[in-house]
Amino acid sequence: MVFKILIFVIILALVYFIFFKKPKAIEDKNKKNNEIADTLIECSKCGTYITKDESILSNGKHFCSQECLNK
Ligand SMILES: [Zn+2]
Repeated sequence: MVFKILIFVIILALVYFIFFKKPKAIEDKNKKNNEIADTLIECSKCGTYITKDESILSNGKHFCSQECLNK
Protein backbone atom coordinates (compact mmCIF):
# COMPACT_ATOMS: atom_id res chain seq x y z
CA MET A 1 0.00 0.00 0.00
CA VAL A 2 2.82 2.40 0.84
CA PHE A 3 4.38 1.68 -2.55
CA LYS A 4 1.11 2.63 -4.32
CA ILE A 5 0.97 5.91 -2.44
CA LEU A 6 4.59 6.59 -3.41
CA ILE A 7 3.80 6.03 -7.11
CA PHE A 8 0.77 8.29 -6.78
CA VAL A 9 2.92 11.04 -5.25
CA ILE A 10 5.52 10.66 -8.04
CA ILE A 11 2.78 10.94 -10.69
CA LEU A 12 1.40 14.03 -8.97
CA ALA A 13 4.88 15.56 -8.90
CA LEU A 14 5.38 14.80 -12.61
CA VAL A 15 2.01 16.34 -13.47
CA TYR A 16 2.92 19.37 -11.40
CA PHE A 17 6.24 19.80 -13.21
CA ILE A 18 4.71 19.30 -16.66
CA PHE A 19 1.78 21.69 -16.17
CA PHE A 20 3.22 24.29 -13.83
CA LYS A 21 6.95 24.39 -14.44
CA LYS A 22 7.01 24.42 -18.23
CA PRO A 23 4.48 27.22 -18.85
CA LYS A 24 6.35 29.42 -16.38
CA ALA A 25 9.62 28.93 -18.26
CA ILE A 26 7.91 29.89 -21.51
CA GLU A 27 6.29 32.87 -19.77
CA ASP A 28 9.67 34.07 -18.48
CA LYS A 29 11.14 33.77 -21.96
CA ASN A 30 8.29 35.83 -23.44
CA LYS A 31 8.67 38.39 -20.68
CA LYS A 32 12.34 38.80 -21.49
CA ASN A 33 11.57 39.21 -25.19
CA ASN A 34 8.94 41.85 -24.40
CA GLU A 35 11.39 43.75 -22.22
CA ILE A 36 13.80 43.98 -25.13
CA ALA A 37 11.06 45.03 -27.57
CA ASP A 38 9.46 47.61 -25.26
CA THR A 39 12.29 49.88 -24.23
CA LEU A 40 10.98 52.16 -21.51
CA ILE A 41 11.69 55.87 -21.73
CA GLU A 42 10.68 58.71 -19.45
CA CYS A 43 8.25 61.42 -20.52
CA SER A 44 10.08 64.78 -20.59
CA LYS A 45 7.09 66.56 -19.04
CA CYS A 46 5.47 64.36 -16.38
CA GLY A 47 8.12 61.63 -15.93
CA THR A 48 5.78 58.78 -16.80
CA TYR A 49 7.51 55.73 -18.19
CA ILE A 50 6.21 54.72 -21.59
CA THR A 51 7.37 52.31 -24.27
CA LYS A 52 9.29 53.70 -27.21
CA ASP A 53 6.43 52.78 -29.55
CA GLU A 54 3.90 54.76 -27.48
CA SER A 55 6.03 57.86 -27.11
CA ILE A 56 5.73 61.03 -29.17
CA LEU A 57 9.09 62.40 -30.28
CA SER A 58 9.37 66.17 -30.55
CA ASN A 59 12.55 68.30 -30.66
CA GLY A 60 14.59 65.31 -29.49
CA LYS A 61 12.38 64.80 -26.43
CA HIS A 62 9.93 62.01 -25.75
CA PHE A 63 6.41 62.70 -24.49
CA CYS A 64 3.79 60.26 -23.20
CA SER A 65 0.80 61.98 -24.81
CA GLN A 66 -0.29 64.95 -26.94
CA GLU A 67 -1.31 66.64 -23.68
CA CYS A 68 2.27 66.63 -22.38
CA LEU A 69 3.58 67.67 -25.79
CA ASN A 70 1.40 70.79 -25.97
CA LYS A 71 1.87 71.98 -22.37
ZN1 LIG B 1 3.80 62.96 -19.89
